[in-house]
Amino acid sequence: MIISPESFSHLSSPLQKLPLPPEFEEKALALYVKRDDLLFFPQAPEFCGNKIRKLKYNLLAARETGKDTLLTFGGAFSNHIAAVAAAGQLFGFKTIGIIRGEYTEPLNPTLLLAGQRGMTLHYLDRQNYRRRNDPGFQSEISDRFGQPYFLPEGGTNDLAVQGAAELPEEVERQLGFTPTHWCLAAGTGGTMAGIVKGLGARSQVIGVAAVKDPGITDTVWSFVSEKEIQSNWRVNYDYTFGGYAKTQPELQAFMEWFEAAYAIQLEPIYTGKAFYAVFDLMKKGYFSAGSRIVMVHTGGARLRQGFGG
Ligand SMILES: *Cc1c(COP(=O)(O)O)cnc(C)c1O
Repeated sequence: MIISPESFSHLSSPLQKLPLPPEFEEKALALYVKRDDLLFFPQAPEFCGNKIRKLKYNLLAARETGKDTLLTFGGAFSNHIAAVAAAGQLFGFKTIGIIRGEYTEPLNPTLLLAGQRGMTLHYLDRQNYRRRNDPGFQSEISDRFGQPYFLPEGGTNDLAVQGAAELPEEVERQLGFTPTHWCLAAGTGGTMAGIVKGLGARSQVIGVAAVKDPGITDTVWSFVSEKEIQSNWRVNYDYTFGGYAKTQPELQAFMEWFEAAYAIQLEPIYTGKAFYAVFDLMKKGYFSAGSRIVMVHTGGARLRQGFGG
């Protein structure tokens, strides 16, 4: 398939109001879920959720600049790596993944799938991996791999932020009003930065950090330089549950309750934590009465499904 802006025009995600347990109803809270988890390409379902928003303008730019190869960086369990591999296969780009750490067998499901989608994997020891954003190092890599289109680790760059910045208008059109709060999972913070940018200062934005990495706040800050929108967002680091792929019985129990109550799938790395956070914050009285909260379901459960566990 040749990529064009029309490649994405059939995609749209619904906005769904969740009926809340009685304890929240009396606080007159309303919770809406932006179902970006339902955005995906059936031929390459790992290209899904917020990864579609983040990669869309990058893929178009790669095509426009005549690049035939996408090169990116990531950890061995990165959804971004899987998404780039899938998008590459879908739209006819070669893909190269520079993976942090050593090659280990057996390959985990993310890397196995990336390989099946045609991604060439290279492994970089942690010390060299730290140089991934150095211009000198990138130019070496660029020469070695035939001047590919570079996507940074996690895929967060200006064009990714531009893609995510389309969310607020889309959601407000669906809602018919401006919500008081937005809430979403943050990995690099790129999707969050887009939402903050797209919103201007209309609503408060809470990013729920998946990892205790203060770099998330720095990333949002770096993309949202306008003074007037520096005060209406914050990254909450209280719900990392010990790190990237760590899980805890409390989180597991919440996810089971949530999936049974709403028939919406979560995964423990990003969206489980983010939904846990919004329910916990509602419980703790963080939101004043009458708050109307939009929760962005960034996707990811499709990957978990694909991997059979
Ligand atoms: C990649 C990913 C994120 C993180 O997005 P950032 O823009 O890096 O903050 C969140 N949720 C899911 C499901 C993801 O796959």
